[in-house]
Amino acid sequence: MDKIPTETDARDPEKPWSLADFEIGRPLGKGKFGRVYLAREAKSHFVVALKVIFKEQIEKYKLHHQLRREMEIQTSLRHPNILRLYGWFDDDERIFLILEYAHGGELYGLLKKNGHLTEQQAATYISSLSQALAYCHGKCVIHRDIKPENLLLDHEGRLKIADFGWSVQSSNKRKTMCGTLDYLAPEMVENRDHDHAVDNWTLGILCYEFLYGNPPFEAENQRDTFKRIVKIDLSFPPTPNISDEAKNLICQLLVKDPSKRLSIQKIMQHPWIVKNADPKGVCFT
Ligand code: AMP
Repeated sequence: MDKIPTETDARDPEKPWSLADFEIGRPLGKGKFGRVYLAREAKSHFVVALKVIFKEQIEKYKLHHQLRREMEIQTSLRHPNILRLYGWFDDDERIFLILEYAHGGELYGLLKKNGHLTEQQAATYISSLSQALAYCHGKCVIHRDIKPENLLLDHEGRLKIADFGWSVQSSNKRKTMCGTLDYLAPEMVENRDHDHAVDNWTLGILCYEFLYGNPPFEAENQRDTFKRIVKIDLSFPPTPNISDEAKNLICQLLVKDPSKRLSIQKIMQHPWIVKNADPKGVCFT
């Protein structure tokens, strides 16, 4: 069985989930607004990650709309590289998100542990991300907050995009500042209109970070990072020794004019991806 029985005949679709339906296991992590626990559905023993968010926090930071948007978008997406949100329920104090369990944890942890990834790992993850983003963009969803902390790995090392808190569903150009500084495209830094090409920029940033261990425009302070992004102040350190093909892909993504960035389709066909990425998106570490 590959899905929690929200969608099976066994469950009355009218009956909402409640905490009594789950056996709660060990904590998996702590986020800004609550904790995440390993859990299993009591009848089917289907294993999930249960994210607990305190309503007080949501009210304090006026995040109702963002959370609702995250939940609606993530529930509607079905892709092997996008973390499933199976459903949600609440009680007086808390909101519970029933999420796909990502056994491998954060990609960020792997990156920090190893310093940087191999070209095969990096290409596999960039390819998986491109496939997931092609799917999202096809549904007019822009993620806008892709960073290693929002990327989880399953038990086979397959990448899963999590956290749709900053994503938007729109085919119009957007003009809201959001996202994390190091991953922001120049049009976002300069508070100009932006579209799905911001995600393509982020793929360039991530590709660099996967290979070198740090994002390319990192600086002492925010102002300097802003300046480096706007100038596209990009350089490649001599170590680790990275192939010219990988650098070529990065240079074609970190382009100021969003319309000139390599398209998602072309990323998937890029020689470096074709040569290095695992076709199944599976990356044992
Ligand atoms: P978050 O509140 O989403 O930032 O999650 C806090 C931490 O819980 C993350 O850093 C992950 O390590 C862990 N976590 C969140 N969601 C999952 C999941 N679906 N599967 C496994 N671990 C998770």
